[in-house]
Amino acid sequence: MFNSKAYALGANRSCIRELFEYGRSRAAVVGEENVLDFSLGNPSIPAPQAVEEAIREILRQTPSVEVHGYTPAGGDMAARDAIARELNRRYDWDVTPQELFLGCGAAPELIAVFRALAVPGGKILAIAPYFPEYAPFVEESGLEFGVVPAQEPDFQIDMEALEALVTKNTQAVIVNSPNNPSGVVYSRETLQKLGALLEEKSREYGHPIYIVSDEPYRELVYDGTEVPFVPAIYRDTIICYSYSKSLSLPGERIGYIYVPQKATDGAALYAAVAGAARSIGHVCAPSLFQKVIARCTQIPPDLDSYDKNRRTLYEALVAAGYQVAKPQGAFYLFVKAPEGDGEAFSQRAKEKDLLIVPGKDFGCPGYCRLCYCVPYEKIQKSIPIFRELIGKTH
Ligand code: PLP
Repeated sequence: MFNSKAYALGANRSCIRELFEYGRSRAAVVGEENVLDFSLGNPSIPAPQAVEEAIREILRQTPSVEVHGYTPAGGDMAARDAIARELNRRYDWDVTPQELFLGCGAAPELIAVFRALAVPGGKILAIAPYFPEYAPFVEESGLEFGVVPAQEPDFQIDMEALEALVTKNTQAVIVNSPNNPSGVVYSRETLQKLGALLEEKSREYGHPIYIVSDEPYRELVYDGTEVPFVPAIYRDTIICYSYSKSLSLPGERIGYIYVPQKATDGAALYAAVAGAARSIGHVCAPSLFQKVIARCTQIPPDLDSYDKNRRTLYEALVAAGYQVAKPQGAFYLFVKAPEGDGEAFSQRAKEKDLLIVPGKDFGCPGYCRLCYCVPYEKIQKSIPIFRELIGKTH
């Protein structure tokens, strides 16, 4: 006997993985260059040179037992201190190393936070469109998962819909900006309205409703778009951050959780997050990469190639007549299916070796997600296909 929910999660691959695997097998038949795989969010720009140099230097200078040894569960103080200093420099804030808990990327960090917030009957809300893994992360943490319907066409937050869903059982609202899958960045005004609403509801229900700010794309923004620092807008904010995308290190599993002391019950909440991490087997974040991060907190990503892809694809899709919310961040673009059915559109595209993910799992069945961190030639090759799919013949 085994756990049926775990079995279902393992046996049914996500639609994204399924398409990606299909792409691999198709490439073996028609050639890599002929498969336009826009399915998976794997960064295509290499990790910055400074990261590579830091790795080499650390390996050269530091005794092996130290490089590969356990660190405290919350992380080495040097790394936490460097992260805190960088956050304070950027956002004029007052983060202390003691408020940071280094984790193995945003995914397990989110699970630790959800488990810390899991009380009987508790519920977590996500805002559509949303990262599909939130559902199993929340539900397997023993909480109910709810979805605030999308606000079309701009994909900011529909406050009325959100307000209607908040109850006394709401423990937190997940905010993901820049957003996967839409690439939209929530404006300061949107976040201020959200903060005001949650403040009012927290008062009404007599307990805090936290914002869990999932920020792996925080530095991936274009055209100088502002990504507001959420704890400065709403006191009861917990950040889950990851270097997977900003430093192109998704396989190295490194990030942090910021639990502000000044959040309601901040010190107890930090202890609960640390305890929840312990309960899922967190021992420490990778020691080598803690040391790398301690030296690389100020390294910006080189976004030129993503930006070129973004502008080319967005402009071509709009010119062809597609409805697309302008992506200001991350490396995704969310396009409305011309026939109003994301699965049918994805299928028609697949027949032309163009792999795009139906929006159903993101909470928007009428859309498809395009991940544009691919070689520029593939963006160019995809344009005539997109035009054909919407019925443009030239
Ligand atoms: N949250 C969002 C919105 C993501 O898109 C991803 C990964 O694609 C994650 C979390 C997980 O990131 P990590 O690699 O840091 O676990």
